[in-house]
Amino acid sequence: MLKFEEIQLSGFGKYPKTRSKLSRPSGVNEIKDFLKSGEVTPRGLGRSYGDAAISDKGIIAESLLMNKFLSFDESTGILSCEAGVSYKDILDTFTIRGWFPYVTPGTKYVTVGGAIASDVHGKNHHKEGSFSNFLISMRILLSSGEIIECSRESNADLFWATIGGMGLTGFILDAVFRLRKIENPYMTNKVLKLKNLTALFEKFEEYDEDYIYSVAWMDIVASGSKYGRNILMLGNHAGNEDLNSRLQVKSKEKYVEKKISVPFEIPFSTLNKVSISLFNSAFYMKARTKEDFQHYDKYFYPLDFILNWNHIYSKSGLIQYQLNIPEDRGQEAVDKVLKKVVEFGGGSFLAVLKKMGDQDGILSFPFKGYTLSMDFPVKKGVIKMCKQLDDIVLEYGGRTYLTKDSILDELTFKKMYTGLWEKWMEIKHKYDPENKFSSSLARRIGLCPF
Ligand SMILES: Cc1cc2nc3c(=O)[nH]c(=O)nc-3n(C[C@H](O)[C@H](O)[C@H](O)COP(=O)(O)OP(=O)(O)OC[C@H]3O[C@@H](n4cnc5c(N)ncnc54)[C@H](O)[C@@H]3O)c2cc1C
Repeated sequence: MLKFEEIQLSGFGKYPKTRSKLSRPSGVNEIKDFLKSGEVTPRGLGRSYGDAAISDKGIIAESLLMNKFLSFDESTGILSCEAGVSYKDILDTFTIRGWFPYVTPGTKYVTVGGAIASDVHGKNHHKEGSFSNFLISMRILLSSGEIIECSRESNADLFWATIGGMGLTGFILDAVFRLRKIENPYMTNKVLKLKNLTALFEKFEEYDEDYIYSVAWMDIVASGSKYGRNILMLGNHAGNEDLNSRLQVKSKEKYVEKKISVPFEIPFSTLNKVSISLFNSAFYMKARTKEDFQHYDKYFYPLDFILNWNHIYSKSGLIQYQLNIPEDRGQEAVDKVLKKVVEFGGGSFLAVLKKMGDQDGILSFPFKGYTLSMDFPVKKGVIKMCKQLDDIVLEYGGRTYLTKDSILDELTFKKMYTGLWEKWMEIKHKYDPENKFSSSLARRIGLCPF
């Protein structure tokens, strides 16, 4: 008998929600049984924002019980683990031994399976690329029940279609990838408070050689003379010789995380243009141009300190809109997008701008350019405004990120990923001819039939 729970399920943005049959298989045989009964949607920790890991058809197979480390080579940093292992598991186990993921997204509550399926990027994408750059091989359960190992050398078509393939080629069972050697858990942290976009684009270039990590927080509510103000944060992994004696001692102590919680959804009326604008002003005013050291946990995962922070967006949820625009007209396009958002007045606290580099992978989101991500509380007019942003993105030859998406229509998606989705579709048909692996996202953007 198939074991599942029927519940209202969503991604991290809590929009959209759908009645889904959620299961937590403990092994391959259970997933094979699900496949015999109908469609399957793989799911990790549900940190994709929209509907990539939900479906009102078939069964959602969550990987969280398939979470064992399989092997680790101390001499090379090569780790093999099951797909349900999370970044938190990796950090808790390996940073103390001097190893760190090469690429990390802005939360550690992401599984290895989810990281591959979205080909996640971090603040170092322009220097080091996405997760897939450090992925050596993986084993995938196909809809036929067969388990296939794939890498750059064997079954390479499946390898490249699964990277960024949003769980639609098969269920990733385990993966082999490289970790980075670090000397201690601290980061050098340089903060620059900047008045406008021009200053930001100049500083991105000026510091390109010196720092592997860079990201800018943007005030997307400020208008008039404050329009485009931002805070640029740059960093590197600190060497032991960089640290003072206090931090050298602390770096060897057990790290204890502190968390605060948002226990319930805050009514939308509390979170309005005025309160968001006040928050952004206070955040900008408090920031100082400075250089110091930060523990990796604060540096990479500031949002993880606030448990359930997505509750601040009320029951209606949020849309996270992440675009990437080619480098040559990046500043012009970002300026146009920001002006549209300021005019709409529906922006929020979280807007970040990063540089991106080239990337292999058929449906991988990154390419050489600038990526801007913004949160919008779901309210009247917001979808219409996002569609207008889509038009700007298309005009500049850009695209939006599927793992954050909840609004793209099929035609717009196919224009954004033209030449790529067709190639990906051929491989999908080869390995999953009956579209057994699907999701609400896949049907919405035409990667699977309704
Ligand atoms: C606060 C926050 C910050 C973020 N920052 C970044 C960032 O900086 N960079 C970035 O790239 N992303 C970022 N993300 C997005 C996140 O990294 C991705 O959505 C990631 O895929 C989530 O992993 P998950 O385990 O939660 O997967 P889920 O959300 O559960 O699933 C995501 C996709 O992976 C597929 N999938 C999951 N497990 C498997 C499996 N075993 N086999 C096959 N497919 C599978 C699902 O079908 C789905 O399509 C952020 C998200 C949050 C909430």
